[in-house]
Parts: sequence; C-alpha cells; structure tokens
Amino acid sequence: MLKVAKFGGSSCASAEQFQKVKNIIMQDRGRRYIIVSAPGKRNAKDTKVTDLLYKLYDAVEQDGDAEGILKKIQKRYQDIIDGLGLDFSLSEDFQNIFDNLKSGAGKDYAASRGEYLNAKLMAAYLGFQFIDAVNCIEFNDDRSCNFKETEDKIKKQLEGVDYAVIPGFYGADQNGHTITFTRGGSDVTGSLIAAGINADLYENWTDVSGFLVADPRIVKNPEVIDYITYKELRELSYMGAGVLHEDAIFPVRKEGIPIQIKNTNRPEDHGTMIVANTLKKPRFTITGVTGKKDFCSINIEKAMMNSEIGFGRKVLSVLEDCGISFEHLPSGIDTMTLVIHQEELEKYEQKVLQGIQRAVNPDLIELESDIALIAVVGRGMKSSRGVAGRVFSALAHEYINIKMIDQGSSEYNIIIGVRNEDFENAIRAIYNMFVLSAS
Ligand code: ASP
Repeated sequence: MLKVAKFGGSSCASAEQFQKVKNIIMQDRGRRYIIVSAPGKRNAKDTKVTDLLYKLYDAVEQDGDAEGILKKIQKRYQDIIDGLGLDFSLSEDFQNIFDNLKSGAGKDYAASRGEYLNAKLMAAYLGFQFIDAVNCIEFNDDRSCNFKETEDKIKKQLEGVDYAVIPGFYGADQNGHTITFTRGGSDVTGSLIAAGINADLYENWTDVSGFLVADPRIVKNPEVIDYITYKELRELSYMGAGVLHEDAIFPVRKEGIPIQIKNTNRPEDHGTMIVANTLKKPRFTITGVTGKKDFCSINIEKAMMNSEIGFGRKVLSVLEDCGISFEHLPSGIDTMTLVIHQEELEKYEQKVLQGIQRAVNPDLIELESDIALIAVVGRGMKSSRGVAGRVFSALAHEYINIKMIDQGSSEYNIIIGVRNEDFENAIRAIYNMFVLSAS
C-alpha cells in the first residue's frame, strides 16, 4: 500500500518526537513520501518556529534584534540534532537564509524556512532523499495553487524516488519565488503529493486521535469519530472543527484517496478515516455536533412578500454590493431572515439597512445580534426518524430557546440558531442526547 504521511508541528517539535516519527515510518515500508511541518510547540508556553520566522522577518525589515531571533531558531534545530546524536549541520543553511533575508527575500520565503530546514533534518535522520517543495508545488499569480502544473511536477520529481521527505506549507510561483499556503498549509501539501502520485492512503499525523464528535473544550472526553465522509467533514469543518486545513480535502477527494488522521503520541489508536463513501454504520446517529458564535440576523417583513417577484434577489443584491456573504436564509410567508457573520455586517450595517429599505420597501426590518449557529451533522440522520425531534427536546430540557432552524435537503445536516450564551449548553445537550445516552 503506497502511503503519503504528513507529520504536523507538534509531531516534529523535539528529538523525542522525531524518534516517534521514525518508529512510525519504519513500521510500514509503504510510508514512502513524508511531509513535515516546521517544529511546533513543545509545551503550551512554547513558540512555533513559523511564528519565530515571521518575527525574524519583521526584525530584519525594521532593524530589530534579528540575530537574537535567528539564534533562538537555530537552537530549536540544534537541540533536535543533539538530542538525536546526529552528525549533521544546518549552519550553512542558516547563513544563507540570513543573507537572503537581508537582501530582500520576502515574508513567504522567511516563513517557509521552518519546513525547509525540518525536512532536510528529517531526511538526514531517516536516510531518505530530500526533495524541495519549490520543485513540486506551483502557485498562480493570485496565490492559488496551480493544480495541473503541480501534479505534473510532483510526478516528475518523485519518479524513481523510493523514499523522500518533502517540506510542507510552500511552493513557488512561475518565476521561482517562494509562496506559502495559509497557516496550517502543510496539510494541503500532503494532500497534493498524495494525489500527484496516486497514493492509496494519505495519513495525517498530529497530536490528537482523530476528529471528535464535539469540541473537548465544551464536552468532557468526547468520543472519536472513526469514519466520516468528505461531505460530513465539510459541514463540520466549515463550522470550525480545525484539525485539518480545509483546502486539504479537495486534491485527495478528487482522486478518491482516503485520509486517515492519526496520533503520533498514540500510534495504536485507529484515528479517523475520511472517505468518499462508506457502508460502515456510524457509531451514533450523529457524526458530529459543532458550531460557531457571533452571527446576527436581519429579519425583513412585508405583507404579500411571497407574491412579490424578485424580492429575494433585490435583498441579496444589497449584500452583494457590500461584499457580504450570508450564512443562512430561513424564510416565512411574509418574512425573510438573513443570517450573517456579525463582524462582516458591522462594517456596513447602515449601508445594508438603507439598501434593503430602498430596494424592497419592507414593513419592518429587525436586527438581532449574538446568535450562535450549531450544526448537527451525520449520514446516519438521513434515514432515521425523529432526529429533529430529539434535538429539539434535548434543547427544551435545558430551557434553551431555538431562534432558527434550517435543514438542508441532503438530510444530513440540521442547523440551529441559539443565543450566544446558550451555545455551550446546547452542544452538551445534543451530545448527551445522541452519544452519551446511546453508548
Ligand atoms: N508551519 C506552518 C504553520 O505553523 C504550516 C503548518 O504547520 O502546516 O502554520
């Protein structure tokens, strides 16, 4: 089985973590292409190397203490080298990086060096070939990934290479300038490499044993999701469950390659398998419950709204003119509600209200702030009766008022709006109803 394995920042944070990574890789010779992040935090108070690199860039640009920061970064790597007892040096690389930064290499170049150095070090430690990501990942001028070129480059670079380590997070544009993905982007690199070589599996090694049914900061010891479909994950990640970079789904999904989330500190745990489709019955009726606070709603009322052709279009074009996207659009016979990120609306509040007034001349416009949206997601909900009823009775038992309900036609997603202050209680109530009382 041909595998691409990506190890995140905490998996590469110290010599001890490097040893765990090596054990994992050596246990399965199918793990042939390894993607690494920059060393992450060793403890809660620690700083990620990537953050130090951004600081280094600022210090070089603004005549700050660049040498002091560079020394700190150098020490992070040296500690790993010493801890592993390796006969290996990155001194020359550090000198080059510093020279390049002083002669104007950009911010992306600075940030990318964390992955670059770490991949070199990991390659030396494993005895694998180092392949630079600038030769594998190509970006367009607008910083989006050029998938076609990237696929070709990956195929070419990895042809005939049995084992390699490739840095995550960055690539280059057509002119060879280094460009990074957004933060956490090594996940995307791993996905592109897996798709490019048509791997059987993309393993994403991190410091948790997979996706959890609910946020552990809200629910105590939540269950792990063992199988999840791409579609379900999209609904959940969109609402803020951040184990995997959102853009990491697309490349592997297109090729039908599953992703397995695994824990470097507990490699025996199954983790979460993300698949296109599965016959595997979900353990619980819901796959996950998640959400986000700080939405607001604009409630528009007008008699005979239902027969006024073009009403919706006119209202939405006001949002479009202000560059605001809406999250949900529940409606009644004479009412229409726009649910929007509060932060987004705040900037254009009066312009939007005025625009709606002029566009459709409503009888009433009401604003409401501090709404939390909760997504209850699960492929198991589709054919099961009474799911919505159970969600509502769970909330009623906790005296939580539901402000909005939205069920997509796919039937595996119910969105509920509650007050911000009820958010945590609502998540716990739904979790207890579907998971605790079922296990
Ligand atoms: N090192 C980068 C970051 O901290 C990218 C990554 O870890 O994926 O965001």
